[in-house]
Amino acid sequence: MTDVKEMTGCSRYHLNMSTNPTTEELLRRYGGAVPRYTSYPTAVQFKGDFRPKTGDIPENAEVSIYVHIPFCRSLCSYCGCLTRVVHDDSPVNNYLAALDEEIGLLGSMTGYSLTAGHIHFGGGSPNLLSGEDIESLINLIDLNFDIRDGAEIAIEADPRQMTAEKARGYALAGVNRVSLGVQDFQRETQLAINRIQPYSQVEACVGWLGDAGIDNINFDLMYGLPCQTEDTIADNVQKAVTLNPSRISVFGYAHVPWMRPHQKILEKYSMPGPLERFRQAQVAREAFLDKGYLGIGMDHFALPGDRLAVAAGNRELRRNFQGYTTDRAKTLIGLGISSISCLPGAFMQNTTSFKVYKEKLSLGDLPVEKGTYLTPEDIMRADVIEQLMCYFTVDAADACRRHGFSEAHLAEDVAYLRQMEQDGIVELDGSVVTITESGRPFVRSVCAAFDSYFEGAQNRHARAV
Ligand code: SF4
Repeated sequence: MTDVKEMTGCSRYHLNMSTNPTTEELLRRYGGAVPRYTSYPTAVQFKGDFRPKTGDIPENAEVSIYVHIPFCRSLCSYCGCLTRVVHDDSPVNNYLAALDEEIGLLGSMTGYSLTAGHIHFGGGSPNLLSGEDIESLINLIDLNFDIRDGAEIAIEADPRQMTAEKARGYALAGVNRVSLGVQDFQRETQLAINRIQPYSQVEACVGWLGDAGIDNINFDLMYGLPCQTEDTIADNVQKAVTLNPSRISVFGYAHVPWMRPHQKILEKYSMPGPLERFRQAQVAREAFLDKGYLGIGMDHFALPGDRLAVAAGNRELRRNFQGYTTDRAKTLIGLGISSISCLPGAFMQNTTSFKVYKEKLSLGDLPVEKGTYLTPEDIMRADVIEQLMCYFTVDAADACRRHGFSEAHLAEDVAYLRQMEQDGIVELDGSVVTITESGRPFVRSVCAAFDSYFEGAQNRHARAV
């Protein structure tokens, strides 16, 4: 079991600190680098030379499908995604040809027996693709996986690459949810991050999508970017709500220049420190709640009638690689380079190399590079972490029992949370752990106490807050 003092990098963690610590003290103790827990084990645990065996990918099941489109027209300075800047269509068309092969290979391997209930095009900027491109991908997925009636088909879109024609094309292809990368409405921040997209451009996108019949619109916003302040964040929220998106995500900028060297360019700007980041996140949260949005998990908001809000109310919320989701399928098939598949007993990730991706597919091989099989303990701990991430509470003994472990199996992990209890982050009632309202920004650090692989590696993860 990892010592919790390692997870926060704070050697004082086990000392009996004073109660009522200041926010700065809490950020020092619990705001260190921790995973985002979109999976457990996290991708850091995936190993090379992983080969799926027959039966790892189920047959005759409903699955979800993620398609990675790793291309953009320019590089945003904060970008942490796997993408490649392209100025013409030939690399994109080559990639689409390989993607078609991967879809066909997986379809034949599973005997064309899978049904797709959710499809998500992520990137990169999937809306570099035309309506016809998206339609032919969806048709090919339907041929190989049989898209069920009423399936959610979502696409991430860069507002700078949207047009009215694409909006119509996507709607005709069957897309029914669009996630717009808004990030920030302020020109000073947009200049710093190399992403100029005025409010009028986002407003036009929302109009085109609505005219095409796509009313399910998500906005992605960010805090912790250069030149952002509590006031600019409040203004961003005000501008966002005037466009009435049904869902909003507010992510903290992850400054990881050791993994993404292009982010170093941002260091010449004034960057919000931990306390300012914390306050920016709070300003956004309070403003969205004030505007009638419901808080979902740690960083999502949804209008009351939205399916995500309904799922949260019914305790059917899930968390996967796209964040919080209504998707309850046990299998997620990742297509395209770097995509991760979540199988009932394993995770597997495709290669991040375009060359290897194409070569393997041309030989009829799945382009899998690494992965890991899940132990029964992994599955039990994943359940605990997912409950904390989605609902901020878990009965650890109950989770142990449901997964065939002794009720006391996680007692030591719960005991590690005593200091957090004294600091007002969690309340402990026997085996029930409940994160307090004021402790919610530290939910990832609470989850890390149940992560038996976590080593507190500061250079592998972004800040918890
Ligand atoms: S549009 Fe998204 S994926 Fe592309 S460079 Fe910007 S942040 Fe990265």
